[in-house]
Amino acid sequence: MSESTTETGTDVRETDVLVVGSGIAGCAAALAAARSGANVLVATKATAPEDASTDWAQGGIAVTGEDPETFREDVLDASDGTADPEAVDILVGDARDAVEDVLVDTLSVPFDGAPAGAGLDDYDHGREAAHSERRILHVNASTGGHVLRPFLNYLRDHDGVTFLEDAMALDLLTHEGRVHGVHLLREGSVEPVFAGATVLATGGIGACYGTTTNPDGATGDGVAMAAFAGARIADMQYVQFHPTAYPGDDPFLVSEAVRGEGAILRNGEGERFMPGVHDDAELAPRDVVARAVKDERDRTGEVRLDVSPVEPDFRTEFPDLAELCDERDVDPEDGIPVAPAEHYLCGGIAVDERGRTTLDRLFAAGECARTGVHGANRLASTSLLEGLVWGLRAGETAADAGADAAERIETQEPLDSDPELPDEFASAKYARLRETMDSAVGVERTHADLERARSTIRRLKGEVDAYTRTRVSRSLYELRNATVCALLVARAASEAPSAGCHHVVDADAEGSTNGGARADD
Ligand SMILES: Cc1cc2nc3c(=O)[nH]c(=O)nc-3n(C[C@H](O)[C@H](O)[C@H](O)COP(=O)(O)OP(=O)(O)OC[C@H]3O[C@@H](n4cnc5c(N)ncnc54)[C@H](O)[C@@H]3O)c2cc1C
Repeated sequence: MSESTTETGTDVRETDVLVVGSGIAGCAAALAAARSGANVLVATKATAPEDASTDWAQGGIAVTGEDPETFREDVLDASDGTADPEAVDILVGDARDAVEDVLVDTLSVPFDGAPAGAGLDDYDHGREAAHSERRILHVNASTGGHVLRPFLNYLRDHDGVTFLEDAMALDLLTHEGRVHGVHLLREGSVEPVFAGATVLATGGIGACYGTTTNPDGATGDGVAMAAFAGARIADMQYVQFHPTAYPGDDPFLVSEAVRGEGAILRNGEGERFMPGVHDDAELAPRDVVARAVKDERDRTGEVRLDVSPVEPDFRTEFPDLAELCDERDVDPEDGIPVAPAEHYLCGGIAVDERGRTTLDRLFAAGECARTGVHGANRLASTSLLEGLVWGLRAGETAADAGADAAERIETQEPLDSDPELPDEFASAKYARLRETMDSAVGVERTHADLERARSTIRRLKGEVDAYTRTRVSRSLYELRNATVCALLVARAASEAPSAGCHHVVDADAEGSTNGGARADD
């Protein structure tokens, strides 16, 4: 990476490969690009590992077992038959090598059941909803942190990789259809970074919703930036809701692994209801369980997760989750109250099998990317795997495309001429955005609600845009990005037929298929 300063004192950086984001997808892309000999700059707005969803991942990472075909079928079945079979083949085909090479041999992740560095088959394999066999590697119920923290440490020590933390990418730099890097907001000023190739790995869109399992910074920045630059965005209607989040103060996720170990769902009348909904009962696909939990909460007031069937007992099997319950004075023996919460974006920036977007030299990987693997509904514990597999592929291909290819272009720095915005500005707009998304673009949707949401969010976007024309701040750009993503979701949802986690309940549930979307509505 090279660095210089302009006459106005602005830092100008050049790099072969720029990776935006430091979750599993960004780390994997940086690793693969550096291994290919590229100079890599990782720019992340994170100031700590827990700013990435990766750090929050609980249940684990799925790996292909002896029979790849069963894994393939499980992914396709969970997606309601909408996943792209070729993308699923890549996920299933690359899984073992990627996990063994990066997580076991390179990072020595201490998976449960065997010493670090053991063979993949020696570790304990857990089971989660819609998996027909035990295939999930885990570290207690906090797998993500045990993957991400060693990954970040490893990359920080890597000669070819430079990290810029607390550095937010605002917009892509484009010229004649090619992406040349980003504008970065860092230490209060905006600086261009020119890159031979740029990889977006910015995670999900949980901040669009009031009820979410995601960290606060999941504001959909990569999807919004790519949409503004004209990249194809697809499948935004497929927002997955996790069925079992604790809904009280300080919410937390209760991993599907708990149901995988036998826990059952009971409604407010104490009845187990899932066997009447789906043959696989509590282990039905996520979208099915989320809808059933919502319906039973509406009908009987609450749903609890009865953990008494877990062997030998819940505290021994899931000590991390037991601790989260204790911190909130929830006694697991009474059942843990649960409700659906926004969890994962299955759609996003459309990419091919190497993570290439529709724009030259722009790549995407992880939750912000739409690979086709998840279709309309993601199978549990395949997100870390997808981020790892596509991150490695995108990083390697970006290194080829970006070697010695950084070019400085004329850029127009965003205007920052307005006085400070009042603090209430962002919080008041977020409140309106989230109320709209929770009430109209949730687990169950109607066309009337979706139309109402579209017009509310369109107005909101207009109000936010008026400020971003003259003012630069992290909170304002995050709000802009969340609003753009919300609009993309509401628009795609109002146009697409029901499938998987996009469930339209009014009679006229047929819409036109959403082939792609852009930031304008
Ligand atoms: C509570 C919870 C439990 C989960 N459990 C599992 C599980 O057991 N198994 C599984 O497979 N999946 C699980 N998931 C899903 C999975 O963790 C995520 O989908 C996955 O980690 C996403 O990885 P990522 O690298 O794409 O994004 P993230 O890990 O979210 O990383 C995104 C990064 O981009 C940075 N960033 C964002 N915008 C910008 C910007 N403008 N400029 C610079 N940097 C930016 C962020 O700071 C962050 O570092 C879980 C998710 C949650 C929230």
